[in-house]
Amino acid sequence: MSHEIRTPMNGIIGMAELLLDSELTNQQREHLNISKQSAEALLDILDDILDFSKIEAGKLELEEIDFDLRKVLETVVTTLAVQAHAKSLELLCDIKQKVPSAIKGDPSRLRQVLINLISNAIKFTETGEIILRVEMIEANKTGDENILELHFSVVDTGIGIPTEKLNTIFDSFSQVDNSNTRKYGGTGLGLTISRRLAELMGGNIQVESQMGKGSVFKLSAKFKPGNIECTQVYRNNLSRMDGIKVLIVDDNATHCTILKDSLLCFGFNVICVNSANIAFELLNKSSGSEQKFALMLVDVHMPGMDGIKFSEKVRMNTDWDKTKIILMRSVIHRSDVRRSKIIGINHFLQKPIRQSDLYNSILAALEKTSDDCSITNEEKTNDSMTPLHILLTEDNIINQKVATSLLKKWGHDVTVANDGREAVHLVNSTDFDIVLMDIQMPNMDGIEATRIIRRSSKSSIPIIAMTAHAMKGDRERFLDAGMDGYVSKPINVDEVRNLIMKYAAIKINAQPR
Ligand code: ADP
Repeated sequence: MSHEIRTPMNGIIGMAELLLDSELTNQQREHLNISKQSAEALLDILDDILDFSKIEAGKLELEEIDFDLRKVLETVVTTLAVQAHAKSLELLCDIKQKVPSAIKGDPSRLRQVLINLISNAIKFTETGEIILRVEMIEANKTGDENILELHFSVVDTGIGIPTEKLNTIFDSFSQVDNSNTRKYGGTGLGLTISRRLAELMGGNIQVESQMGKGSVFKLSAKFKPGNIECTQVYRNNLSRMDGIKVLIVDDNATHCTILKDSLLCFGFNVICVNSANIAFELLNKSSGSEQKFALMLVDVHMPGMDGIKFSEKVRMNTDWDKTKIILMRSVIHRSDVRRSKIIGINHFLQKPIRQSDLYNSILAALEKTSDDCSITNEEKTNDSMTPLHILLTEDNIINQKVATSLLKKWGHDVTVANDGREAVHLVNSTDFDIVLMDIQMPNMDGIEATRIIRRSSKSSIPIIAMTAHAMKGDRERFLDAGMDGYVSKPINVDEVRNLIMKYAAIKINAQPR
């Protein structure tokens, strides 16, 4: 069912994306954008309804795989930051230090619940901030060493929910106000699905709210300790940070506290101030002392004197000009970078700040002697990559057209196989860099074709599954058959692009120099 519904959506969205890349009049572009956005909204609704019916039928089972929790959370927040910043809202992520990174559970379903809660928070908030907070319940309170109980809360400063509606919003197709659908969109299924998913994760979702002040959605969920140690990266260098003095200049109190907690944990001696003027008072006081600030983390967007002007004044004073400066901003403009280079800023960090980025940029700033300004998290705009010879195995003509046009646009050479049997034959007779393999196909499906290729002389070729809707166990089935990964359909352009770039990079590295 899901496959049948998603395949035509792939055609609609994919073709709209390709057309948007061609020459169009402003009006055509506007019409096409609306049609693409409507198709995406329809796909979201279809996904919700499919999930809902699967849950109602008791058919939804969760995966249990090892994953890096911090990576998942930071990716969720970074992705949604674009929507938050478009409304001038701060989106902050506060992961308490005791929360482990390596856990075992279902990352996609956790991601789905959090995306729903944070998207709602953004949708129903006009000014202020949204915070995703994560805490761990101590093992002695859960009573089981092998269970990790995590509490996630999504706090907003939005319109709030009336007390009498606090329970009904979890009912299917229910919204606080029927005019919501017209104003904000949505189906009223998101919270129903989220609560059921939370229950499947051994937890629940509760809400507290005050009209006009904001809401807090609290999700509890249980996981198992994971096997991969993901936090190793930070640990090696921690001892070198001990006692180094850092000044944070940021008018947002929540952001200051989150940053301070992270920096204290890295071993820094941290002071927070909320304006450039107070920072100057403090700098003046510490001028004569031995222990100067080695580093400043400065928010660009502050009332009164902004972070760039502040840094410029700091650089003009010979007493402080050795202090390293990292600027923080939600949206980094090229002009900021240019100006900062002239002033002598050491690094830029894009908000919401990922812990790994924070740590790496501090290391880079403290070790760098030159005033070479670089950006972490910078948007990549360069579209070119090493051309690959790609075998696209897909039986649906529309899907073939969408994928071929996209891959050709990026400069790749594409050959199409209409089913698994053709793919096996072509892989044996031609040299490809990568195979994209649909799963459900007539004559021979993608799994069988992969098994045969893995037993042939071309056994090492990368094979990526393309699947309409991965169900529990599918991932294992694909990997067991010898596939190297999978992408979902309708094709997410960025996902496919990143994947292809990865293989293009491998090809460059493998080439003799
Ligand atoms: P949808 O957002 O698709 O309508 P949900 O089930 O996610 O469906 O939410 C149901 C309703 O709960 C929303 O329509 C809205 O009225 C209310 N709601 C959810 N989150 C918030 C929030 N953070 N602030 C205010 N109202 C909310």
